[in-house]
Amino acid sequence: MTGTGQRFVRHALIPGWDQRSLAGSSVVIVGVGAVGSEVARLLALAGVGRLLLCDPDTVEESNLSRGALYGPADVGRGKAEAAAAALRHRDPATAVTARTADFRHGVGLAELRAADAVLCCLDSVADRIALASRCGLVGAGLLDAGTYPWGGEVRYYPPGGACFACGCSPAERSLTAWHVTCADPPAHAGASGPVSALTAAWQSVTAVRLLFGLPVPAGAVRLDPVSGLSQPVGLRADPACPCHERLDPARITLAGFGPAGTVADLLALVQPGEHALAWQPIVPGDPLAPMTIAAADPRATLAELGIPPGEILPVVRPPDEVRYLELQREAPA
Ligand SMILES: [Zn+2]
Repeated sequence: MTGTGQRFVRHALIPGWDQRSLAGSSVVIVGVGAVGSEVARLLALAGVGRLLLCDPDTVEESNLSRGALYGPADVGRGKAEAAAAALRHRDPATAVTARTADFRHGVGLAELRAADAVLCCLDSVADRIALASRCGLVGAGLLDAGTYPWGGEVRYYPPGGACFACGCSPAERSLTAWHVTCADPPAHAGASGPVSALTAAWQSVTAVRLLFGLPVPAGAVRLDPVSGLSQPVGLRADPACPCHERLDPARITLAGFGPAGTVADLLALVQPGEHALAWQPIVPGDPLAPMTIAAADPRATLAELGIPPGEILPVVRPPDEVRYLELQREAPA
């Protein structure tokens, strides 16, 4: 029986729990594979009010052994969309937005800034560095999780502190972030459903504590079911890390429209001598395409250029002046 108002009655008995605060919270989950889909399930169960799920991949048959939100009928469907549909059915009080896109095209910088928590559930070093860098631009913290065959790690990077890239070598930071789907060979050793769920559960508990403003372990926690230990691992900021550039909020102005606006709409806000840029090539999937928005068809929408809602676009005046135009975010679902 539903609708009796008793759904969260047991939560009220937990010290420090604030159901109303969770209902008013919004969480971005980047990557909706084995870990991300389980995190989404747990946060919706907990009563988080709004979830934004972003993943470019489709559900493969091999995902069915590791994600509780996916069923056989979902094979071939976008992971974000399939997970969102399952959550809407199970937890209708949670508003879920699905974006079937790489996060660079699926989640705008202003959306990262506005979220109460940003969760990284990606499976590549290069993608994690790219997301850490985007969070750094707008001063958003990042709660990251990763798995290995018999364990996992959950790492919290508070705003202004160490980021994921601080722990990477210069060679790793120079990796080009080409998206590789789970279906592409060669397959790497993944984690099983139980290990993914263990890691996702730890990440979810940490996320809930962050949403409540309660203390969480500093740095990373390594979960090792083989030895039976969970161990904190210190994280140190690297002064040489290039991912700590922050957009100056005083230089951001509102465009007054979202990605449904056209190239011509945006260029109307640019002064002579200025160049509006995208953070990614303006032909999604073509790394050789320019990043200068004026190179696109003026009738094209910004969405068609792969620019997400809430993106904050740089406007450069050579040699070294830069300001930013912030696109509108979507109205909450
Ligand atoms: Zn860093």
